[in-house]
Amino acid sequence: MKKSDFHPGHQNQHIESRIVAALERISQAFRVLLWQESKEFSLSPIQVQVLIFLLHHSEEKRKVSYLADEFNMTKATISDTVKTLEQKALITKEYEPHDSRSYIIRLTPKGKEIAGRTSLFTREIHSPIDKLNADDKENLLLSLMNIIRHLNRTGVITIQRMCLTCMYYETGAKGQKHFCRLLNQDLQVTDLRVDCPEHELKT
Ligand code: SF4
Repeated sequence: MKKSDFHPGHQNQHIESRIVAALERISQAFRVLLWQESKEFSLSPIQVQVLIFLLHHSEEKRKVSYLADEFNMTKATISDTVKTLEQKALITKEYEPHDSRSYIIRLTPKGKEIAGRTSLFTREIHSPIDKLNADDKENLLLSLMNIIRHLNRTGVITIQRMCLTCMYYETGAKGQKHFCRLLNQDLQVTDLRVDCPEHELKT
């Protein structure tokens, strides 16, 4: 039977398992930091994540069905989250004229303020990344993007808006060159985007 990545003996002999275990520790850090931030405003972690998403994304993405895909949750769960945020006066719903069941979600001024403050919850994760040298940052970004692309292809996570999954993205045979057909320019590794507003999913 294949050994678990969390088996210490196996981990010590396989760097891949140590990397998986390290990523799990980092995901734990995201959860802890988000939880701390949520508590301060008497919100749940998903409520804070939705507020932050609304702050940074355009109208067509600020709908229940898009949010459900974005956070890998059911529409019913997201609808409940939106309802609570509305009761707390952090968002409003703007119903679409052609469909009375569909609406765009807008942050209220109070919602914007809380979203802005809570969106800084990643400070302690950002800090050690700041200290990496330029090559290590590029290698880390590319490695993470490749992991995300695999998770997307295998259906573990849904929506991705990064260059590697975009119809405008082209790469050389060995994956060393990156080009955006929309911007009509070469992209350095440091230009590769993880959340691009112009992203169109490659089919
Ligand atoms: S449109 Fe955005 S995501 Fe797509 S290749 Fe260009 S920069 Fe990357």
